[in-house]
Amino acid sequence: MYSTVELRDVTHVYVTPREAKLAIEELSVSIAPGEFVSLVGPSGCGKTTILSIIAGLVKPTRGNVLINGEPVRGTSSSVGYMLQQDYLFPWRTIMDNACMGLELTGQLNDQTKQKVIQLLEGMGLQGTENLYPYQLSGGMRQRVALVRTLATEPEILLLDEPFSALDYQTKLQLEDLIVETLKLREKTAILVTHDLSEAIAVSDRVIVLNRHPGSIRRSFVIPEQIRSVQPFYAREQEGFNDLFHEVWMELEASDRTGGGGAYV
Ligand code: ADP
Ligand code: MG
Repeated sequence: MYSTVELRDVTHVYVTPREAKLAIEELSVSIAPGEFVSLVGPSGCGKTTILSIIAGLVKPTRGNVLINGEPVRGTSSSVGYMLQQDYLFPWRTIMDNACMGLELTGQLNDQTKQKVIQLLEGMGLQGTENLYPYQLSGGMRQRVALVRTLATEPEILLLDEPFSALDYQTKLQLEDLIVETLKLREKTAILVTHDLSEAIAVSDRVIVLNRHPGSIRRSFVIPEQIRSVQPFYAREQEGFNDLFHEVWMELEASDRTGGGGAYV
């Protein structure tokens, strides 16, 4: 069976008129069907670049990117990308925003509209269909963005710091909701986050990246007792603090030493 996402020896150099910047070097990773993986690492280490490569928005300078065994050639409806900013259109209603992806891909019909209404309900957004984004809180807007991403039924979700602009309580609630929604639908997910405890609480695996250029430093498989409960309770499980400490030390070392794998 193929990995859902596979990067093989991926290197990416951004070339600008002023410089050539090595953003990722020789990065290889395989993500299994239904797996939830988090990427953590210092700012600028290439996390967004990795997601953009998987999404087919950036073509890597070298290496192979495969989705279900097929080489990625540009964007595809099997991959949904959710960003930190919700990017809802202020002049469109919540319903029309949630239907954007379907509209753009020519899939908007009575049946898919009904599905959007159900997704909005599932996210606790019933009754907001005819409101505008400014009338919703930040957490609600992120939920609308998630509905919009899920509506086109992507198999893989790329989440680039989707919770980082939210207050702590909203963030914890949204973590639970997203994990439950994605597990229920058997989606494969890659989350980029600055928040280590979030990464451990929501993931099956946490990958710590090296700084400059981005490469894998170490991968942590999250133990069953933490994985099997909702993210909110995961933080209270035995072993959580020890694991947090271990990942923290690795991240600290990665920030201090830069790339090159000096501590690997
Ligand atoms: P992260 O998401 O981990 O903060 P990025 O993937 O955004 O990191 O960036 C990795 C490196 O590549 C950074 O040094 C950044 O300055 C550089 N970079 C990102 N996007 C571009 C771009 N479009 N052009 C040139 N350099 C870029
Ligand atoms: Mg980024």
